[in-house]
Amino acid sequence: MTVDRSTIWPYRDGEAGEFYYQRYAHPTGLAAERALGALEGGRALLFPSGTGAATALVLMLCKPGDMIALAEGAYFGTRVMFDALGRWGLGVREFDQTGAPPDDADVVWLEAPSNPFLTVPDLDAAAGHPAQVVVDATAATPIHLRPLEHGADFVLHSATKYLGGHDDALLGAVVCKREDDARRLDELRAHTGIVAAPDPAYLLLRGLKTLELRVTRQTEGARELVRRLDEHPKVTNVRYPGFGGLISFDVADADAARVVETSLRVITNATSLGGVDSVLESRARWEGDRVPAGLLRLSVGLESVDALWHDLEQALEKA
Ligand code: PLP
Repeated sequence: MTVDRSTIWPYRDGEAGEFYYQRYAHPTGLAAERALGALEGGRALLFPSGTGAATALVLMLCKPGDMIALAEGAYFGTRVMFDALGRWGLGVREFDQTGAPPDDADVVWLEAPSNPFLTVPDLDAAAGHPAQVVVDATAATPIHLRPLEHGADFVLHSATKYLGGHDDALLGAVVCKREDDARRLDELRAHTGIVAAPDPAYLLLRGLKTLELRVTRQTEGARELVRRLDEHPKVTNVRYPGFGGLISFDVADADAARVVETSLRVITNATSLGGVDSVLESRARWEGDRVPAGLLRLSVGLESVDALWHDLEQALEKA
């Protein structure tokens, strides 16, 4: 399929067809949604970013006075977005997602695994809660986890990460378990204009073709690097859930983290994760004292493990 950038499609015999104005639906987006929906076992809808997807979902699920129970240590920007909606009456409380959510939660928001602490949620405990359950499975991808099969009502993705996979498309997705939820969210999306454009949708379609190959290889690379990092004298703590390409580890302090970041030659010192190129950054620059000062997040790409390890080793040596 090639990308169709039309914003309008002609009426036939005076009647609108399946596609008529891009804000309501477009063929490239629909094709990408079908491909992602098939992988997750639900009905997928695309949004212009992961954060846009999360915002649309909150607008659909919550009313003023509602409280979202958010996984502690989840992606920093999710909390920032919830707080931005605070003046519309949205409450948020963080909880340890490896246990049961608070009783009074109206929505339970989990992350599998959390970024950058890499904890794995107790999906059974969440499924037993009467609230709607959202699982941000950006870092797991459907290759490792299909939350709808474990009682979640919605799966959220920053498709900017592994699903797109090449650091060249900003995109988000919500996958709904139930058709009536998908219909409501689709309507809200068109009415609020929080829609994804055809080009990133096309890049998602392309990315999905290699998702399994990429994620399998990134997982193999990450497992080996975790083994080696665990034994390195300059590394004080390694976090890894056992699957996926995301690792976080600690060095002594902020100065040591800065030395590692700036000494890299193969791994790019940049933010984001999930692409074919490995990237590493100190998260304290964004999250402050919410994370240890020496915490480094590494997203393992497709380079050879030995090349990555030699790069990490020479950088750690200097720290
Ligand atoms: N969820 C997770 C787990 C993320 O890591 C990110 C971004 O880093 C987001 C959501 C937000 O996605 P986006 O940057 O596409 O808005």
